[in-house]
Amino acid sequence: MNPHPLQKIPYGLYVVCSRKNDKINGQIVNALFQVTSQPKTVAISINKKNLTHEYITHSKVFSASILCQECPMLFIGTFGYRSGRDIDKFKNINYKIGKTGVPIVLDNTLGYIEAKGIKKLSVGTHTIFIGQVEDAELLAKKPVLTYEYYHQVKGGKSPKNAPTYIEEEKPKKKEEITMEKYVCTVCGYIYDPAKGDPDNDIALGTAFKNLPKNWVCPVCGAGKDAFEKE
Ligand code: FE
Repeated sequence: MNPHPLQKIPYGLYVVCSRKNDKINGQIVNALFQVTSQPKTVAISINKKNLTHEYITHSKVFSASILCQECPMLFIGTFGYRSGRDIDKFKNINYKIGKTGVPIVLDNTLGYIEAKGIKKLSVGTHTIFIGQVEDAELLAKKPVLTYEYYHQVKGGKSPKNAPTYIEEEKPKKKEEITMEKYVCTVCGYIYDPAKGDPDNDIALGTAFKNLPKNWVCPVCGAGKDAFEKE
């Protein structure tokens, strides 16, 4: 079977948040879609190991913030590659509490949906939560961040617990050493000299070895020493 047609399915990128009593958490989700219009319902797919899964199961509410294209990689990394069990993801993040009591991330967000869980469906590693939309708001007129843009332009990867994760094929040998890609062993982000790191003013064509010593992974914040040749 060729897994690549599955990679052609278009998605957006969202921060999905929930709560458990006075604890709050959020994570990046790509699998979100509207199911019905009367009443308005949306579905999301969440890995069962994730803290947000535990919180949605408990409180039966979730929010989804729709990310804008200019969203920095580090923001996506914080919500997508770190666990709320280890860090407070809401430190230095603008958010508000919605009508259902769920936190709603406002940074890098062009609009949000707040939903109350009405159904859940267990599918192997993931659960599909279907929620009735309780509130929704548009916050900014900006281009939306699609999954394709995140991969193609920003160089982002799917973490292992994403529904769309596919194991990468071994790359071919590169002719030009300076253009070699380096992969972050923490989050899987690939530094590609052909793309540079525009979020951090690293110009196109900058070889990995010429990156400043204090340069860190734009996704997870790991240092240069956490990188390996791809
Ligand atoms: Fe990283």
